[in-house]
Amino acid sequence: MKITRYKKVQKYLKFYYNNFGFHQPYQVLIDGTFCFAAFKEQINVRDQLPKYLNGQAKLLTTRCIIIETEKVAKKAHGALTILKQFGIHECGHKEPIPGSHCILSMIGKKNDKHYILASQDRDLQEKLRNKPSVPLLYLHNKSPTLEKPSKASQEKAGQTIEANSFLFISETQNEALKTMKQALGIEEKIEEPKIIPKKKKIRNPNPLSCKKKKKKPGTASKPSESAQDKGVSEGKVRKRKKKKIPKHLKQQLSVSAAM
Ligand SMILES: [Zn+2]
Repeated sequence: MKITRYKKVQKYLKFYYNNFGFHQPYQVLIDGTFCFAAFKEQINVRDQLPKYLNGQAKLLTTRCIIIETEKVAKKAHGALTILKQFGIHECGHKEPIPGSHCILSMIGKKNDKHYILASQDRDLQEKLRNKPSVPLLYLHNKSPTLEKPSKASQEKAGQTIEANSFLFISETQNEALKTMKQALGIEEKIEEPKIIPKKKKIRNPNPLSCKKKKKKPGTASKPSESAQDKGVSEGKVRKRKKKKIPKHLKQQLSVSAAM
């Protein structure tokens, strides 16, 4: 097995381990379509799957799946032979139901039993991509292939698989971030900025805002701006002047611009 291929599957398994508690021995739920493909491609499932997953694996199926495959036994006797090698997990269906339905019921809403599904059934795969925490395994060009965790899995985990160091921000997390920012005063303060410039007048003018204003008089020659400069540099003198309010507002603007 190529190194990149090995790394990929380990990365995915680690993702499922970290976020959903998948562990060895992996429970691989195998259906008729997978066995049919394995038979066709001459794949030894019992050898190849644990090797590919680089760990212990329980290979499992259900009675419903076996019965379904038996119905097409003439076409799929090889698949049936493979299927019967595996352990049978009790699905609880007294009357056998179609294999794909049985698998969906086995996995349920949360895939609590941590099944890895081995199937070539595209409809079934598509349905399970919408559920978080369902690893999909199939044969691709004769090779077992574990699919990259679905978007549903990544969203549930709050993590992207491309770069584990970056957080994937889901909508709920985004909301939480917004409220946190608001609480910290980083974002969307509408009335508080009016208070801050007043405090700054009493203490000292903001050096950043002073720098900006020093640059302006050189280029601009408007009388209102030069008056503002004096107000800022002289501090308390400014208060006695008539143009109190516009200065506050302008300072406010410059403070917010500096932020
Ligand atoms: Zn069943």
